[in-house]
Amino acid sequence: MATKKFLLNEKDIPTAWYNIVADMVNKPLPPLHPGTKQPLVPADLEAIFPRVIAEQELTTERWIEIPEEVRELYKIWRPTPLVRATGLEKALDTPAHIYFKNEGVSPVGSHKLNSALPQAYYNQKAGVTHLTTETGAGQWGAALSFASRLFGLALEVFMVKVSYNQKPYRRVMMQTWGADVVASPSNTTDAGRLILAKDPNNSGSLGIAISEAIEKAVKTPNTKYSLGSVLNHVALHQTVIGLEAEKQLDMAGEYPDIVIGCFGGGSNFSGISFPFLRHNLIDGKKTRIIAAEPASCPKLTRGRFEYDFGDTVGMTPFLPMYTLGHDFQPADIHAGGLRYHGAGTIVSQLRRDNLIEVEDIPQLETFDAGRLFAQTEGTIPAPESAHAIASAIREAKKAREEGRAKTILFNLSGHGLVDMSAYDQYLHGEMQNYELSDSEIEKTVSSLEKLVP
Ligand SMILES: *Cc1c(COP(=O)(O)O)cnc(C)c1O
Repeated sequence: MATKKFLLNEKDIPTAWYNIVADMVNKPLPPLHPGTKQPLVPADLEAIFPRVIAEQELTTERWIEIPEEVRELYKIWRPTPLVRATGLEKALDTPAHIYFKNEGVSPVGSHKLNSALPQAYYNQKAGVTHLTTETGAGQWGAALSFASRLFGLALEVFMVKVSYNQKPYRRVMMQTWGADVVASPSNTTDAGRLILAKDPNNSGSLGIAISEAIEKAVKTPNTKYSLGSVLNHVALHQTVIGLEAEKQLDMAGEYPDIVIGCFGGGSNFSGISFPFLRHNLIDGKKTRIIAAEPASCPKLTRGRFEYDFGDTVGMTPFLPMYTLGHDFQPADIHAGGLRYHGAGTIVSQLRRDNLIEVEDIPQLETFDAGRLFAQTEGTIPAPESAHAIASAIREAKKAREEGRAKTILFNLSGHGLVDMSAYDQYLHGEMQNYELSDSEIEKTVSSLEKLVP
């Protein structure tokens, strides 16, 4: 049998993150100041981020050196394994070679720690003592809780209410690492009170939780805000995933025909795919890059390219992105980390230029894929990651029909061991798909201001 697992040494952890903006012919449009509607400068971002992060958000440098202290801490779980999914291949009777990068082996169970560590590091270096953030299913909150603990920072997490109730274990994880966790919308901020006044039973969204966390950071001394997805610096930090995978596939004697990531705001998708997309852009490679999102929250497949806020209340800059509108309220699907109305600005530009492909996947197909993966490879995937698995399965079946060998790489962004109530519903036949009509999307998209030139 072929080698199953491709492992690197600690010395192979990348020494720099890769910034794809340097290699894009059409750069992303600039984010705009929400008041003046002029392009942002790093100083505008310094109200909520330390300077280095504000600079990373807007830089066009190709390689950004990873601080030695961060690289040391990456060694807790990096390099992560690349695994050939031979069990899954056999079950699908496919000629395709399927590989997955396992980011679920981090201490918090997902890729999110790749960016939480450097963000906590840069804040501590800048003299910040207290961070605020939002979390959906709890993975980002968990990652930042552990990272904040390592750097001695206090952390307050606004957790989307539906997940706070559905996923109490992640709340307890965050509390174990020492964070304060608040269900959002809450009555501790103006933004939360505004939402609750209109709709006391609001189950929350990432957009609302972001509004609350930013408001808290702006109003509290020595406090900054930290975001786990969407923004350019987060995508940048996640490129360690793809940079490692490139070396590991090389060990396997392969180069991918297809690279797949699930898509919430874009961080793990960017992380696995940008190092390969780089070779499409500069060396004429033709790897297909696929973003897999939930059919119930399809910003890339059915949203519109407009300037929109990153949050619900309108406190962030205007970001040029594919969006369902900042008032879009996604169904309460179990892939909580994918319930976000917009896509990062880099990914949005890549989509506009047809440099990536996008795909939306219904909830039941996602869990079918998650179960098959668990039964053949052992690891129970996060519901988010199961979107990437479902997409990989679609491609592996196509390869079988075409009778063609193909190399498929997908990112296993996290394990699903804290999502067993979702699997329980699935196994009991209590799970459903959510159809989203065009008119529902139109409702929240049509009110967006037209700022794209
Ligand atoms: C947060 C999360 C996602 C979605 O976020 P991205 O920024 O799009 O990567 C996907 N998978 C897991 C396991 C997550 O925790």
